Amino acid sequence: MDFSLLPAPILIGLGGLFGLMIGSFFNVVIFRMPRGESVVWPASHCTRCGYVIKWYENLPVVSWLALRGKCRSCSERISIQYPLVELLTGVVAAILIWFWLNDGRGYDLDFKIAVTFLIIASIPIFIIDFRHFLIPDMITFPGIFLGLAISFLPGGGTPMRSVIGALACGSFLWVVGFVAGKIMKKDAMGLGDVKLLAMTGSLFGAETALLGLLFAAFLGTVAGVPMLLLRKLDEHRHIPFGPYICLGTLLSAFYGPTVLNWYFGLLSR
Ligand SMILES: [Zn+2]
Repeated sequence: MDFSLLPAPILIGLGGLFGLMIGSFFNVVIFRMPRGESVVWPASHCTRCGYVIKWYENLPVVSWLALRGKCRSCSERISIQYPLVELLTGVVAAILIWFWLNDGRGYDLDFKIAVTFLIIASIPIFIIDFRHFLIPDMITFPGIFLGLAISFLPGGGTPMRSVIGALACGSFLWVVGFVAGKIMKKDAMGLGDVKLLAMTGSLFGAETALLGLLFAAFLGTVAGVPMLLLRKLDEHRHIPFGPYICLGTLLSAFYGPTVLNWYFGLLSR
């Protein structure tokens, strides 16, 4: 079945529904991963009384509203973060489908898939990295394999570009982190950032991912100074760099060629 033949409102609706379900999965990752718990076992349960949540009590957004944000068994409050993450992921997915159907038609299919994955994956990365300074392997490993998978589609990428992108970008950031760690005498960068850059390298190729890293360093510095001044950022802790890598890579994916042309144009003048 060719999905692209369906009317736009149905495609956007399906995208939104799919996003709600992905958001539901993100909730599990967001709550369990920082505690070192498995994502697949045990089944969703109340963290206070252990009540195992039935599938119909676990529907995105709807169930939280129906239960009025409380556990059916012990009335423990269920965080509003659950429905918010689901809603956000659903809305973002719907907007992305709308964008690809309208303004974004000219892009290759592999690029569309890579950007969609990066933007959707940014949601748990933003939440978990800012709170716990962690980036889940449950997000980056599938992303690395997705990059390789879509490189077989017709478009800009090749399997070789994807593999080299992952290896070159991952090892580059690992070396940077290692050297910075020696100089600063502490762990400057988490392995999560290294795996995230391997992911963007696999999805977009080394040039786009490394330019994205450059943008990320710039954005992180710009955002980091007021955070330091507001004492939000403890100098002894890791800097949550993952969100900036996501933003920087997105900028690089869309505007990288323009920026590079402009820069090399300046040099050759
Ligand atoms: Zn309960």
